[in-house]
Amino acid sequence: MQTVPGFRGAWRTDVAARAAYAEGAGIYRILPAAVAVPSDTDDLIALVRWAGSTGTPLVPRGAGSGMAGGNVGPGVVVDLTRGFRTPCTVEPAARRVRCGAGVTWREIDQAARAQRLFLPPDPASGAFCTIGGMVATNAAGARSYKYGSVRGWVEALEYVTADGEVGRADRADLRTPRTAVERRLLSDLAPYLRQHQRPIEASAPRTRKNSSGYCLVAPDNGWVRHLLIGSEGTLGFVTTVELALEPIPAHDTTVLVPVRSLDELPDVLAALRDADPVAVELLDRTYLEFARAADDRIPADAEAVVLARLAGETEPSLPGDAEKRAVFAEGPAVAEELWNLRHLASPILARLPDERRSLQVIEDGCVPLDRLPAYIAGLRKLAAEYGYQVVIFGHAGDGHVHANLLVDTQAADLAARLGEFLRQVTNMQLALGGTTSGEHGDGRLRAPFLERLYGATYVEACKRVKAAFDPNGILNPGVKLATGPSFTGDTLKVGHEAPVLPPDVAQRLRDVERTAAWSTFRLDLVSERQSSDAALSSIT
Ligand SMILES: Cc1cc2nc3c(=O)[nH]c(=O)nc-3n(C[C@H](O)[C@H](O)[C@H](O)COP(=O)(O)OP(=O)(O)OC[C@H]3O[C@@H](n4cnc5c(N)ncnc54)[C@H](O)[C@@H]3O)c2cc1C
Repeated sequence: MQTVPGFRGAWRTDVAARAAYAEGAGIYRILPAAVAVPSDTDDLIALVRWAGSTGTPLVPRGAGSGMAGGNVGPGVVVDLTRGFRTPCTVEPAARRVRCGAGVTWREIDQAARAQRLFLPPDPASGAFCTIGGMVATNAAGARSYKYGSVRGWVEALEYVTADGEVGRADRADLRTPRTAVERRLLSDLAPYLRQHQRPIEASAPRTRKNSSGYCLVAPDNGWVRHLLIGSEGTLGFVTTVELALEPIPAHDTTVLVPVRSLDELPDVLAALRDADPVAVELLDRTYLEFARAADDRIPADAEAVVLARLAGETEPSLPGDAEKRAVFAEGPAVAEELWNLRHLASPILARLPDERRSLQVIEDGCVPLDRLPAYIAGLRKLAAEYGYQVVIFGHAGDGHVHANLLVDTQAADLAARLGEFLRQVTNMQLALGGTTSGEHGDGRLRAPFLERLYGATYVEACKRVKAAFDPNGILNPGVKLATGPSFTGDTLKVGHEAPVLPPDVAQRLRDVERTAAWSTFRLDLVSERQSSDAALSSIT
């Protein structure tokens, strides 16, 4: 592949470097054509203009911890973790922070806490995920029960458009266009959205969280900002982010409520809701059985456990009955131990042997709150029918649970059965009035289900959004708007058909996954340029 005129950053086409970017945190392994690591915005502009003129697809990428396959693809993977690390500038009086898209959530949290402030959405991946990736997936976390996803906290974004211009999207609605994208948005998209406003509004799922599709019904002013949030690298490269912050509350208490049957769950959630909690998390029986191997203090008879965090300016309490059955953590050390229980399964799951891997195929469904017991029971039943072990945990207060599948990777019909299972679970999510993604996004995995979720009018509007931002289709094609099935055997990172990578790189990628070392700069996994045409032809 030719080099890019004027590009100053790292540009690699050797197999080892491409292999290092073939995987992210989800199920995929797709060898990109090249890897680019732009040094700054001008560099990124040079790359985007070249891609536009050559019709080359670009895959924006942060830490690679995204689950839905938006961070991998057959085009040029563009690593934004090096050139976009402008450190945090916190304005305490305005309760705002501004930083580069490659800065991690943890770095923002540390800078904010030094001023007695914090960024409320707190993904469990905060130690390594970038704020660019968070904005691009509309990420959330345990505290999103009270504070919502990152969408509500983004004040402004700067981004490089598919035309190679710099755009800014903030809380002001677009009136006078400054870029080609803004001109197309006003002339081509806005009339269509106005004309179809009613059916588009009616098609949105009635769930507390949703990271599927483009945000066509903006919850407040600044509709271009809302389109970009959650767009998963398909509408532009986010380069700078400005976020609102909150003061750290005076009190922060954790409670644990054992649940003896799933039928009790709605009452427990309702009682907790009255206490205005910050987070309400569920550890289902399938999770507890799994985690018990690592912590034998977990009660044997619990059907599930609800963990809640109560925080505010006054000492938190629970209403009547809930107070009696809840176990309050005495002190921060015990609270931390309880939250460790919530995070116990992930490292064990990541370290399973290669023949029995934990795969994120149906991991992000979100349903209306009163349908949660039916959804969990349905997941358990379907998994049993398919012979998969399933581990269920997550954001119960939002009707949103993660479900990891433990799968025999040696099975001959692995991809076909997984695909069929995904369809069955999606049918159930939609029948329950839910969405396919509460916080991880559509990626490649869920893109084929967008029309089933929203209907044809909404998807037509999404196609027009895409055409206005990216008329030549160079930004992450196949993500959000499908160009094929969710996956095939030769796009999975496990199984007999998985693409072959150089063994040393494959092993290092596995180590990244086992140790959650997602912030590793992937070019550090490979030695100096290994440009071997022989190796290239044996792999591609
Ligand atoms: C152990 C673990 C726990 C997790 N917990 C949570 C959780 O609690 N909540 C949650 O929401 N998610 C969670 N995730 C998923 C993931 O961490 C989030 O989706 C995160 O926001 C992705 O950030 P990233 O920097 O890794 O982005 P990537 O994975 O690199 O990219 C994700 C998507 O964003 C796009 N993108 C990345 N950067 C940019 C940019 N600057 N401009 C435009 N597009 C961009 C990519 O093209 C891709 O489509 C978890 C993942 C892991 C592995």
